[in-house]
Amino acid sequence: MDAPDVTVLGAGIVGAACAYYLAREGLSVTVVDRGGIAGGTTGAGEGNILVSDKEPGPELSLAVRSNRLWRELDFPDVELEAKGGLVVTTSPAEQEALDALAATQTGVESQAVAPHDVEPHLGPGVTGGRFYPQDMQVQPMLAAAAFLRASKASVRLGTTVTGLARGRVETTDGVISTGVVINAMGVWAGELTGLPVMPRRGFILVTSKVPGLVRHKVYAASYVAAVGSSEADLQMSPVVESTQAGSVLIGSSRERVGFDSTMSLPVLRQLAASAVELFPALANVQVIRAYKGFRPYMPDHLPAIGATEPWLYHACGHEGAGVGLAPVTGSLLASLITGSAPIVDPAPFSPLRFGA
Ligand SMILES: Cc1cc2nc3c(=O)[nH]c(=O)nc-3n(C[C@H](O)[C@H](O)[C@H](O)COP(=O)(O)OP(=O)(O)OC[C@H]3O[C@@H](n4cnc5c(N)ncnc54)[C@H](O)[C@@H]3O)c2cc1C
Repeated sequence: MDAPDVTVLGAGIVGAACAYYLAREGLSVTVVDRGGIAGGTTGAGEGNILVSDKEPGPELSLAVRSNRLWRELDFPDVELEAKGGLVVTTSPAEQEALDALAATQTGVESQAVAPHDVEPHLGPGVTGGRFYPQDMQVQPMLAAAAFLRASKASVRLGTTVTGLARGRVETTDGVISTGVVINAMGVWAGELTGLPVMPRRGFILVTSKVPGLVRHKVYAASYVAAVGSSEADLQMSPVVESTQAGSVLIGSSRERVGFDSTMSLPVLRQLAASAVELFPALANVQVIRAYKGFRPYMPDHLPAIGATEPWLYHACGHEGAGVGLAPVTGSLLASLITGSAPIVDPAPFSPLRFGA
C-alpha cells in the first residue's frame, strides 16, 4: 500500500472532519481507530452545535466559524437541524447577567424573548430568556460517518496505535509509513504524546417519545458557568432537547473522576429533577435509558490544534464542544499542513502552550 500523505489517529467526529478537510486539499488520508467509527466520546455525547454558550475569546471565534462551516457542509441524513437555542432564566438578576454576556458575544445573534412564547410547555419558574437562532443540532455518529465517506479516506478500524515516530505509525496491525500524523485520539490523545487531556464525565438521560414537548435546545443560564468551571467536583445545569426520533435528551453533568464508568444514581436523579423543573410535563414521561461519556478536558478549556513536531499535529481536547467545533478544527489543520491562509488565528490553540 502507498504511504498516505496524512495518517489520522482516531475516527471520532474530530478525526473524521480532519480527514475530510485534508482530502479536499488533495492529500491522501488514512484513518486508524482501535474501535469503530464514533466508538469513543462521539458516540457517547449529544450533538449540539452551539455559539450561545461560549464566553468571549478564542473558543467563541472557533464556534462562530464552525457554525458557518456546518451550514455549508450540506451532508444528507445527519439529522442536522437549525432549530435554535433558548437559554432560560429564573430571576431578573440572572436575566441581566445573560443579557450582559450576550452583548459581549461578537458574531452571535440573540434576542430577549418571553420564554413561554418559544417553548409553551416550560414551567412557571422560568421567567425570562434569550433565543439564539444560530444554535443547531446534529446526530454526531452519522456526521462522523458522513465526513469519512466524503473524504474517501482509507479507514482501518480495530487497529490500535502503539507508537509514533517521524514517518511511521506503529499499530497492532503493522507499521504505517506516512508523511504527517494527526493525533485525534480524543480523551486518550495524551497517552502517546503527553498532552494534558483529562476525562470529564457526563451522563445523559433518554426518554420515551414525546413529540412536540421540547422544540429547541433549552438550557438554564447557569450552564455557561458549569461548563467553564475548572473544579473537579460535580457541576450540574439542566439542558433539555428532543431528537428527530422524538425522545428527549436530558443533561448535563460534569465531573472529573478519571475513567470511572460507574452509573451514579444520585446524579441521574438530579438530572431528572432539574429537567422536570424546566418542563413539568416530563414528570410523567418514562426514562428509557441513561448513558455516559468522557469529555476530553484541557486545563485551560481550549482544544489543542496545531503541531508539536513538523510531522506531528494534534486535534484534541475539545471537551464538551467537539461536535460543534469539528469542521473548524479540520479546516484549520488543513491550512496549517498545506500552508494556506487559516480561517481563524491558530495561535491560542497551539499545543506548544503546554511545553514542547
Ligand atoms: C455527555 C456528553 C455530552 C456532550 N454533548 C456535546 C454536544 O452537545 N455538542 C458538542 O459539540 N460536543 C458534545 N460533547 C463532547 C463531544 O462529544 C466531544 O468533544 C467529541 O466527541 C470529541 O471527539 P473526538 O473525535 O476528539 O474524540 P472521540 O470521539 O473520543 O474519538 C477518538 C477516537 O480515538 C480512538 N483511539 C484512542 N486511542 C487510540 C489508539 N491508541 N489507537 C487507535 N485509536 C485510538 C478511540 O477509539 C476514538 O474512536 C459531549 C460529550 C459528552 C460526554
